[in-house]
Amino acid sequence: MREHWRLAALTAYYWATLAARKRRLRHWAIVGIAPVTILFYHRIHEDRATPWTTHPRAFLRQMHWLLERADLVSLQEAQKRLLAGNFSNRPVVAVTFDDGYEDNLRAALPFLIDHGVPCTYFVTVENVLRGRPFDHDARYGAAPRPHTPEQIRGLAESGVEIGSHAWSHCDFGQWNDDETRRQLGDSRHALEDMISAPVVRFAFPFGRPENAPPLAIAAARHSGYVAVCTAHGGYNVPPCEGFVLRRFHGDDPWIRMANRVTVDLRLLRRSAPALPDAVPAATPPEFAAEAAWAATPDRAAPAGAIPIQNALSSCLGPNDPISAPSSACQVAAYEDPCVESLRG
Ligand SMILES: [Zn+2]
Repeated sequence: MREHWRLAALTAYYWATLAARKRRLRHWAIVGIAPVTILFYHRIHEDRATPWTTHPRAFLRQMHWLLERADLVSLQEAQKRLLAGNFSNRPVVAVTFDDGYEDNLRAALPFLIDHGVPCTYFVTVENVLRGRPFDHDARYGAAPRPHTPEQIRGLAESGVEIGSHAWSHCDFGQWNDDETRRQLGDSRHALEDMISAPVVRFAFPFGRPENAPPLAIAAARHSGYVAVCTAHGGYNVPPCEGFVLRRFHGDDPWIRMANRVTVDLRLLRRSAPALPDAVPAATPPEFAAEAAWAATPDRAAPAGAIPIQNALSSCLGPNDPISAPSSACQVAAYEDPCVESLRG
């Protein structure tokens, strides 16, 4: 019942602030600092057997809503915008999945492929190779099957980006250097053998800050990955390198997804945001070209029209061994989304 009231309050808050959010997003877009939201899902199935299982009806409702109102982009495009500026005045959203459940072949993946929704699918290799259900599902008395290697290959051939979710679904906060390197490297090579294509992105299992320590992030970079994803919530705000990508749960009710995707200022303010609170009343003349461009449907990067490019140097600290985003990029990192008091 408590959750019911919480969602009711969130719904009222969402509708009360929606117009202001849209206005704010338009202004951020003018200067290229509109946040990029990355969602992650796990398993789509009617049985709701685990807390990370989403009903297909709920998932399809979210996807239809996003198709209408957001720019759905690949992680590659998301990273490009983080580096060069995001000038879209619509929410920019990337869709990802973790673990690798065979059940996603029933409704979720066919829908995404049919509708051209870019998707990155992070797969835990050991479960796929051995056909072994995930330990975290056993706690709920469930044992949904992982994909087979053939299915993973088929997904890659259908345009789904395959990423690594480690060799075993392990906690990187617990491993020593050797095991960390093995989990990162072996999983990548096994997946590349499986799909005969490069695997360049990684998602940390569990994904809280303590499960993705700086040394593991550095090791991922040295293993050849171009991005790592966490799972403790937060927006990605340009300009930044975008090597560490923050993600929000998509498994939640629609209103939470809509609230996050349209940029909830409360979540954005949880850490030092780079975004201006007070937005200019009118477009400054020096940004007129960007404003006109941002309003066009085809938003290829405008040549030489990125006023924030110089700020990149502050994001890519030369003394930082992993070039982790600076505080300007660490926006709205908050605790695990399952922590009730922090949910938005
Ligand atoms: Zn996982």
